Amino acid sequence: MAHFLLIVGFARNQAAPLARLEKVMKVRVIRELCTGHGLCALNCAEIYKLDDNGYIDMEPLTDVPPELETKARRGAVACPEGALKIEQ
Ligand code: SF4
Repeated sequence: MAHFLLIVGFARNQAAPLARLEKVMKVRVIRELCTGHGLCALNCAEIYKLDDNGYIDMEPLTDVPPELETKARRGAVACPEGALKIEQ
């Protein structure tokens, strides 16, 4: 029994650092560069929110869920002003 508990304890201690190493993709927004083309939202409306005038309107640094990474990357690349940067 003691050996079993020792192994379980070891496994738990090994799993925690691995979970912390998982990286979440983020989008950094440079609002000053946005000129309101709307191409980001056209590619990924789930991440890129626009205000009533069509300018980007979201937090400066936003986490991207894994299932939206491809669309978010496409939206960032589509921005002609370079206002969206993908960070890993
Ligand atoms: S594509 Fe770029 S310039 Fe156009 S709304 Fe989005 S962030 Fe702004």
